Amino acid sequence: MTNFDYQSRLNKVANSLAMTHTDAVLITPGADLRYLTGYDALPLERLTCLALTSTGKATLFVPRLELPAAQVHQLDRYGIEVLAWDETDDPFGLVHSVIGSLRRILVSDQMWAQKVLTFQKVFTSEVHAAGPLLSAVRSVKDAAEIEAIAAAGRAIDTVHNNVRDWLRPGRTEREVGRDIAEAIIGSGHGTVDFVIVASGPNGASPHHEVSDRVIQSGEPVVVDIGGTMPSGYCSDSTRVYSCGDPGAQYRQAYEILKVAQSTTIATAGVGQTGAQVDAISRDILTEHGLGEFFIHRTGHGLGLETHEEPYIVASNHVPLVTGNVFSVEPGFYIEGKYGARIEDIVALTESGLVNFNNTSHELTVFE
Ligand code: ZN
Ligand code: ZN
Ligand code: ZN
Repeated sequence: MTNFDYQSRLNKVANSLAMTHTDAVLITPGADLRYLTGYDALPLERLTCLALTSTGKATLFVPRLELPAAQVHQLDRYGIEVLAWDETDDPFGLVHSVIGSLRRILVSDQMWAQKVLTFQKVFTSEVHAAGPLLSAVRSVKDAAEIEAIAAAGRAIDTVHNNVRDWLRPGRTEREVGRDIAEAIIGSGHGTVDFVIVASGPNGASPHHEVSDRVIQSGEPVVVDIGGTMPSGYCSDSTRVYSCGDPGAQYRQAYEILKVAQSTTIATAGVGQTGAQVDAISRDILTEHGLGEFFIHRTGHGLGLETHEEPYIVASNHVPLVTGNVFSVEPGFYIEGKYGARIEDIVALTESGLVNFNNTSHELTVFE
């Protein structure tokens, strides 16, 4: 398995803390903890928390019963001291006594409110969300991460390439979804994160999952699927299939969508903002009368989470940089009729833009 450079990740975050005059960041289980340590701890009521200070001192506080699971990751390799607390200890007081009184601390965005409030009481310091600081680091992927995301992309592509084996008129979305979920695991993912099989009018709801609706012939089916690889990195790709001809009007709209999606990938680059990349897809759809039906942003960053920075949205005026990985997924959604979306995960690398999803972008019609 890939060896990620946790030491350099910890150093980067400690440097950012120092540069922003922040004393420490407190991180409970979730993608931030996994990013900094490789430890994919479950978020539970007992406190598991990494405390990283601006001087680079790193301490992981774990409940005694979680100690063996934490030790698997040999965190001492990165200078992280692991401290176990016993069932009747006060773990928040322990964190405070080890890292001392601080003026300004950050807490991970996904820390439970009850834990945030307890830390606030114990530290009596300024508490802010760690999201902006951590995502500035997490959104710039190194070569090992790019390779892990590429592997996730290859795995989900094998599933899309086999959709014709499962998608047939007369089957329900749920039945097809179950087969797809099994294939996502079969393709090498550790978990299935979502399976959207949206047939006919259900396609007009971008985040429809599956239902007991029976798929009819001649209707487009939006299939958006993703999972998490054992590496922790995610996949996410959408294609549209149709069992029989969906009609000229739909095929015309789909061709415009295909141009919008491929033009965005062909012209997106380093230095453009999320807003500028969003406008590429949106302008093409708008020129052809489909703009009002494109009801979501063009994309989202992807890494240890399916949705993370950078967001490809009209409100994002931050220039994209080498190492950013994000989706390009324009769509159109026409209430009561149908929908469509084409989605690839791409990376801005030193050697240009790389597309991790390479199955056919055509509307795939099965006869
Ligand atoms: Zn989504
Ligand atoms: Zn997506
Ligand atoms: Zn998706």
